Amino acid sequence: MTASGSGERLPAALRTEALEQLLTERGLIDPKVMDGLITEYETNVGPLNGAKVVARAWTDPEYRRRLLDDGTAAIKELGFMGRQGEHIVVVENTATTHNVVVCTLCSCYPWPVLGLPPSWYKDPAYRARMVKEPRTVLSEMGLELPDGVRIIVRDSTSEVRWLVLPERPAGTEHLSEEQLVPLVTREAMVGVAKVKAP
Ligand code: FE
Repeated sequence: MTASGSGERLPAALRTEALEQLLTERGLIDPKVMDGLITEYETNVGPLNGAKVVARAWTDPEYRRRLLDDGTAAIKELGFMGRQGEHIVVVENTATTHNVVVCTLCSCYPWPVLGLPPSWYKDPAYRARMVKEPRTVLSEMGLELPDGVRIIVRDSTSEVRWLVLPERPAGTEHLSEEQLVPLVTREAMVGVAKVKAP
């Protein structure tokens, strides 16, 4: 919660509700359509889509190349597209370079592959601090990166939504694409965690 100079502000959920009501009254939106959209993104779309993209890239070098060349198009190959996914750029984490995603302005996020953003992603402290002191914030979130690893903070906007292709963990060479999917977490695809071997 943030407090403005003139007093306490309404919580985000209440403000959103008030805004929705206003837009509905003016005939600008249909609340049934809104509810349908939210249900769709909460239940049908989620990080599982992104995990499928990552597992494919780990097991198919040609696909990996296409994914890094044109994320939106390669993701569409697997049938994932739509709102907030019009321009997805995929960046690869390696042993020497670590990408982490934040939206400093609001909560831009690649919905078709990750679903709706988790609350920590929308947290003002995460958004403000990740750009200034990424190593510290990552460490607080449980990810200790060696000093030699370069950290690149990617700021998601309405123009570009970033997706991290995490490193495939050692010891998973024998696993199939299907077996790799459940290992890939939302946190790893935002870059605040690594994928762990089972
Ligand atoms: Fe945003």
